[in-house]
Amino acid sequence: MGKVSMTGDPIARVKCVVDTCEYWGNGDMCKASSIEIQPPNAKDSHETDCATFSSKK
Ligand code: SF4
Repeated sequence: MGKVSMTGDPIARVKCVVDTCEYWGNGDMCKASSIEIQPPNAKDSHETDCATFSSKK
């Protein structure tokens, strides 16, 4: 079960290529109602991740 609701209106200004996420949509769009990126005090991009990711069933 996803963490947030799905929207038919993809998040503008966000490109996501994680096509294994249930919120992912064609055209590298995110269809989650909102997203959360973690963690605080990250030192580089490899340390960051999308906490809203939910694996496709
Ligand atoms: S929830 Fe995160 S990982 Fe999933 S499509 Fe949106 S931005 Fe990508």
